[in-house]
Amino acid sequence: MDGSRTPQTPPVLILLGPPGAGKGTQARMLEDRFGLVQLSTGDLLRAAVASGSKAGKAAKAVMEAGDLVSDDIVIAILRDRLAQPDCANGVILDGFPRTTAQAEALDHMLADSGQQIDAAVLLEVDDVKMVVRIAGRFTCGDCGEGYHDTFKTPKVADTCDNCGARNMTRRADDNASTVMARLDAYHEQTAPLIAYYDGKGVLRRVDAMGEIGGIQSAIATLTESVMR
Ligand code: AMP
Repeated sequence: MDGSRTPQTPPVLILLGPPGAGKGTQARMLEDRFGLVQLSTGDLLRAAVASGSKAGKAAKAVMEAGDLVSDDIVIAILRDRLAQPDCANGVILDGFPRTTAQAEALDHMLADSGQQIDAAVLLEVDDVKMVVRIAGRFTCGDCGEGYHDTFKTPKVADTCDNCGARNMTRRADDNASTVMARLDAYHEQTAPLIAYYDGKGVLRRVDAMGEIGGIQSAIATLTESVMR
């Protein structure tokens, strides 16, 4: 990859990495800083489950077990979201694609609109530490700001630093046994995408074991270089 991109097409970035690597946190940073829209298939699926839609009903038990939702459902949800007008300024994909079939479907969707993937950013982490990281995390239910029992506690207990809400939530699938299943799914079905994107010349690796601020600046620098 020579770092140049086709002019006038909205940037498309993918965040790759196992559960707990910080994809959501980093995607929100990129959204604020670069005006990209975060597309999280996990968030879209959780919304589908909460709404009780047909797709949500099919996804619920699969998600609770830590397995991957079927490609058909996820691709359809992503395709609909990608077609919405706010995606016209560029997107950051968080948690999609997770299988080779999804990656191929994404290539076709982007080709249809004359777009391309600018970078697939791999957040490299240590699996064992991931289980600790995930088991302690919680989120503001109002604004989505992420917290952690050990690494990032709110300044005032149970109160969001960002928006002041007292509405912290923990994900149903953030427990140790489900996390292990999610890690297995990652290694079996998603890790092959590292070679897939490396082969296309768009893979960028970031050491994601350090402090959130340092990881953010590494990803921001990389994003600036591909958006040029
Ligand atoms: P996440 O919020 O990205 O950790 O996703 C939570 C759960 O949603 C995963 O453990 C899967 O069950 C499901 N999920 C999210 N994105 C996908 C995807 N691209 N393909 C299949 N299942 C997904």
